[in-house]
Amino acid sequence: MSFPSNATPDLLEMERKLLRQHLGLGLNHGDPPADSPPQIQPLFFIEMALHSSRGAKCKLPTCDKNIMPGELRLAMNPAMGYGSWYRSSANFYHIRCFEELADFTQADFLDRIQPLTRQTWKLRGLKAGSVLDGNYLVPGGVERLVLEWKVTHGKWIDERDGKEQKSLDPDFSGLLRMAGSSEYKPLLEPAGLSDYEYYNLLVTLAPYESDGPDDTEEWNLFDIYLDRTIKGFDNPHSLSTMLQRWHDDVALASKEMDETDERGRAAKRRLSAKAIRALERLSAIPMPQPGY
Ligand SMILES: [Zn+2]
Repeated sequence: MSFPSNATPDLLEMERKLLRQHLGLGLNHGDPPADSPPQIQPLFFIEMALHSSRGAKCKLPTCDKNIMPGELRLAMNPAMGYGSWYRSSANFYHIRCFEELADFTQADFLDRIQPLTRQTWKLRGLKAGSVLDGNYLVPGGVERLVLEWKVTHGKWIDERDGKEQKSLDPDFSGLLRMAGSSEYKPLLEPAGLSDYEYYNLLVTLAPYESDGPDDTEEWNLFDIYLDRTIKGFDNPHSLSTMLQRWHDDVALASKEMDETDERGRAAKRRLSAKAIRALERLSAIPMPQPGY
């Protein structure tokens, strides 16, 4: 069956309105919100697609590709059409497909993005067993990139709307942005963090990879993958582009040289030993702690 050439934009426009309705927003940007907000506010989780032979269906009506195991996907939970009481339901999208619907230059959408981690899996209504088996949770690098992308977008939104910028506690901000650098001085008493979480931020999830005090070219996760400029803010696909670049480099870093073709080998030679070390470290998934 073929559709007239103007059918696709209408289909997407309709889907955007359904999404706004699901979130309790007015049908168009600027409209007043719905009379009754959803009982459970839907959230947008960035998570790993589960193992299954055929993958999961992408909910975007114009997409006919499945989301394959090992790919990152966006899970909207609760799902559309189940009633907001149905806690564990979810709609799945390719992240790039979801960017066709959601406007992440608006806080109504941006604020709902969450990487699925040891700290957020309960919000998604998942059972502990499946998370502890290693499903759903994203690698450390993805967690850090998604959160930093969200902060960066939030700053551009505040600037556009003339709102005062919230500033983080300088100790915490230093830990988040400088850990791993040889110049970074670890905190003696990190306030409000468990020992486990402090170690995660200081080592496992540190954005810098360094060869020591003489290293003049320390590797930095955000500098490489996150576009912090206004161009990044204006690009509706900045989230998926960033994560795809990360994903491609991780795949390259973990491949043996003789497995890849000539183009792959050339690309891999561009990754320094330090970059490969960083990508391997940031591919680890910090697990929920017992009792959490
Ligand atoms: Zn799709």
